[in-house]
Amino acid sequence: MLEPPRSLSLVQTQRQVVDYALQRRALLAEVYSGRVGTTDVCDASPYLLRAAKFHGQPSDVICPVCRKEALTRVSWVYGDALKHAAGSARAPVELARMAALFDEFTVYVVEVCRTCSWNHLVQSYVLGTSGLDTRKPRRRTAAE
Ligand SMILES: [Zn+2]
Repeated sequence: MLEPPRSLSLVQTQRQVVDYALQRRALLAEVYSGRVGTTDVCDASPYLLRAAKFHGQPSDVICPVCRKEALTRVSWVYGDALKHAAGSARAPVELARMAALFDEFTVYVVEVCRTCSWNHLVQSYVLGTSGLDTRKPRRRTAAE
């Protein structure tokens, strides 16, 4: 396995970050009020639950529905450049490696409760080496 160069970190190529906290809060308000049933939102597929087990990262956020365990975050990668790897779950160390290998791909972070199967999109962002190109002129401008 090739390790990415130290200078090419995950954070450096991360861009177009979208946060889904508002949608999550709105959906949970519906659940708490009883307008949406827990069976409608606790519907993680066996595929997602398995991805959480093998590729997930533990978070310190307790499940908002069952409150029995901390949520696991799973990162899914999408993009034409990835070819056969598109649509698969990846651990953070793999994301960093892929960010150094590919021009551009999108990461969707999903939180999953392995107890009650609650799942929701947390964040999406773009990674890849093409994000580095736009940084260089900006850095030069700042130095002038
Ligand atoms: Zn739960």
